[in-house]
Amino acid sequence: MSKRAYNFCAGPAALPEAVLQRAQAELLDWQGKGLSVMEMSHRSDDFVGIASQAEQDLRDLLSIPSNYKVLFLQGGASQQFAQIPLNLLPEGATADYVDTGIWSKKAIEEARRYGNVNVAASAKAYDYFRIPKQNEWQLSKDAAYLHYTPNETIGGLEYSWIPQAGDVPLIADMSSTILSRPVDVSRFGMIYAGAQKNIGPSGLVVVIVREDLLGKARSICPTMLDYKVAADNGSMYNTPPTLAWYLAGLIFQWLKEQGGLEAMAEINRRKQQKLYDFIDASAFYSNPIAMDDRSWMNVPFRLADEQLNKPFLVGAEARGLLNLAGHRSVGGMRASIYNAVSEAAVDALLAYMAEFEKEHG
Ligand SMILES: *Cc1c(COP(=O)(O)O)cnc(C)c1O
Repeated sequence: MSKRAYNFCAGPAALPEAVLQRAQAELLDWQGKGLSVMEMSHRSDDFVGIASQAEQDLRDLLSIPSNYKVLFLQGGASQQFAQIPLNLLPEGATADYVDTGIWSKKAIEEARRYGNVNVAASAKAYDYFRIPKQNEWQLSKDAAYLHYTPNETIGGLEYSWIPQAGDVPLIADMSSTILSRPVDVSRFGMIYAGAQKNIGPSGLVVVIVREDLLGKARSICPTMLDYKVAADNGSMYNTPPTLAWYLAGLIFQWLKEQGGLEAMAEINRRKQQKLYDFIDASAFYSNPIAMDDRSWMNVPFRLADEQLNKPFLVGAEARGLLNLAGHRSVGGMRASIYNAVSEAAVDALLAYMAEFEKEHG
C-alpha cells in the first residue's frame, strides 16, 4: 500500500483508500470493456447501469421512500441556493430560513434575489456558538418551505434534532453531514448535498426531493435548473458528471460493506466523542460550541496562544496530519472527520495534540 497521509480537509475531503484503489484498478479498462468510465457514453447500457446502481445503493443506505426522486446534478450545493427558490418559491410568496452560520447565510442571500425571505431565527444572538431552539423561531404563516443547515461546516455547529415543519416542506442542506448516520428522509420535502464532503469527489450534488414538489418551477427558471426536467430525464437532460457519479457509487458500495449507516454512526460517534473529550479536558485547547450543538463531522478548536498556530500546523504536516487549519473566516483549527477519516486518523491527531501541548502548554 502507498503511504497515505491522514487528511482532515473540510472539502474536497478524504476518500476511502479502498475506493481509490478500485477506481485505479478500473481506470484503463472498466470490467473488461476496454475503456474507462470517463470515456463511455452516458446513454450506454454500461453507464446507465452504473448510474442506476449508485441510486439504488443510496436509496438502500438512507431508506429513501419510493415517493422521493434522487437527482444527480451539477453546480454544487451553492447552485441549490438559487435552484430551490426558482423551483419552490412562487412569486410573492415567503420562504422561512434559519441562520446558523456562513452556509445558511449564503442560502438566505441568494434566496432574497427571488422572493421574500423570513429569517425565522438566527444563531447570531449566540455568537454562532449555539443553535436557537425551535420555540425561539418565528415561522411565517404560509411559508413556501422552511430551509435550514443541519451542519455548519465552517462554524462546527450541528443540529441534534430535526425541526418540526408541519405541512411546510422542510429543506435541508446536508452537504457535510449526509451519510454520517441514519436519517428519517420522510421528515423532509427535500435534502441536498454537495458531494465533496461525505459522498465523493466535487462536481456533483445529490438532491433527494419528494415527488409532489416537482413541476412547480417558475417560468424564469432555466430548463437546466428545473427539478422536474432533471427527474423526467433520469438526471441526464444534459451530460452528467459521469466520473463523479461513478465514484459516488463506489463510495455507496463501500458504505454498505462497512455495515451501512448504523455502523458508520457508531464509528462517527466515537470519533467525535474522543476529540471533544480531549479538548474539554485540556486547558490548552478549546471549543466554544454548546455541548448539544457540536458537529460530528467538523470539529473546530483553538490553541491557548494564537502564536502557536503556525508551529502546530507545521508539526502536524510533518507527521502526515494534513489540512487542520480552520476556515479563513474563523481562524484556529478544524478537524473534519467525515466517514473516510478513520478512527486511527483521529487517534494519531490526539496523540499529536497531547504531545504538542506537553511541549508548549
Ligand atoms: C461546502 C458546503 C456548501 C458549498 O458547496 P459547493 O459544492 O462548493 O457549492 C454548501 N453548504 C454546506 C453546508 C457546505 O458544507
